Amino acid sequence: MNHRIVVLGAGYAGLGAAKRAAHAAGRDARVTLVNASDRFVERVRLHQFAVGQKPADLPLAGLLAGTGVDLVVARAAGLDLDARTVRLDGAADLGYDTLVYALGSTADLDVVPGAREHALTVAGAADAGSLRDRLPGLASVTVIGGGLTGIESATELAEARPGLRVALVTAGSLGAGLGPRARRYLHRTFERMGVAVHENAPVAKIAADGLTLEDGRYLPADAVVWAAGFRAPSLAANAGLDVDERGRVRVDGTLRARSHPDVIAVGDAAVLPVRGRPARMSCQIGLPMGLHGGTAAAALAQGREPRPARLRYVGQCLSLGRHDALVQFSRADDTPIDRAVLTGRAAARVKEAVVRGTVFAMRHPEAVAGFCRARR
Ligand SMILES: Cc1cc2nc3c(=O)[nH]c(=O)nc-3n(C[C@H](O)[C@H](O)[C@H](O)COP(=O)(O)OP(=O)(O)OC[C@H]3O[C@@H](n4cnc5c(N)ncnc54)[C@H](O)[C@@H]3O)c2cc1C
Repeated sequence: MNHRIVVLGAGYAGLGAAKRAAHAAGRDARVTLVNASDRFVERVRLHQFAVGQKPADLPLAGLLAGTGVDLVVARAAGLDLDARTVRLDGAADLGYDTLVYALGSTADLDVVPGAREHALTVAGAADAGSLRDRLPGLASVTVIGGGLTGIESATELAEARPGLRVALVTAGSLGAGLGPRARRYLHRTFERMGVAVHENAPVAKIAADGLTLEDGRYLPADAVVWAAGFRAPSLAANAGLDVDERGRVRVDGTLRARSHPDVIAVGDAAVLPVRGRPARMSCQIGLPMGLHGGTAAAALAQGREPRPARLRYVGQCLSLGRHDALVQFSRADDTPIDRAVLTGRAAARVKEAVVRGTVFAMRHPEAVAGFCRARR
């Protein structure tokens, strides 16, 4: 057991990768998982947490029990790619032979002036907790971002706080990645919920009491929630890994970093073309990527070449509060199939089942990996 696999980040991608690597490598590798917190955060539920719903308590120690994976609770502060070591805050440096980089993403707060100082986000557990703590004192909230996170946040806020004035502002159109039928449903739902929508309205500046649009209009709001863009942590770029403009590690088809083949990158912190387009930051791609990354790390530990990952999209599943949702089925390349849309309570049940399914996958990655193999 000489080969050391170190996995950074225990989100959907990293936790799956660590468990899969330990299972596939067996006695050929020792797997260490590093995470800033001792809990698994169900990030796809953070908009629910932000309005006061209780998150499930998921200790990583429990999710790793019996797997042989060693857990180190510490923040990764730096990488030395030549010496193959990870610098940790509050723990000794860790050496590796294969590194799995899975540090996820955070809200990109440097694109619009004032965002870093004044905007709230739902990108991480602490951020969502800050919004939850401020909510009781607010009369109005404006969410910036017409993508999935913005839509889920605005509708959750409107449903949970009926007296709250909620608005959504987006540089493009609401639900731009969805088909026309799904977008029409979204507009009807926002109208029913009393959420004002400002489309094609790029934001120029955010202040403590509202925001200014590029066309000069000023929209007052007691709080602004930024959901218009995410980026990967700067650790990879600082260490000299080849990254894209959002800090994501560029990987080849087997998920090995293009610049450093002893590094595997997965989840939001990695980018590769999926069916011809750069992967969308999502659990849908991050979770299978993590499983494949774990298999690839095990292959390297056993002196084998990893196989290419075969990733595809299935659709987009958006909650619209707790009793409504929208499921937009898509082609493998993420383009929506216009007529294939499910809405209402049936869609809300599907969405809940999908979200629960992600935790099932974290508990039993082997079952999911086996299912994926069988489907192929
Ligand atoms: C509100 C919301 C709703 C969403 N809904 C959906 C959805 O419906 N469907 C979908 O497909 N996607 C959704 N997403 C996106 C999805 O959550 C992400 O794509 C997914 O979490 C990516 O998984 P990951 O493992 O790459 O990163 P993460 O889940 O972010 O995990 C990263 C891990 O790394 C740890 N970490 C970070 N930095 C350090 C460090 N320096 N040292 C140690 N540990 C560190 C973090 O603590 C975390 O545990 C949603 C996101 C949000 C915010």
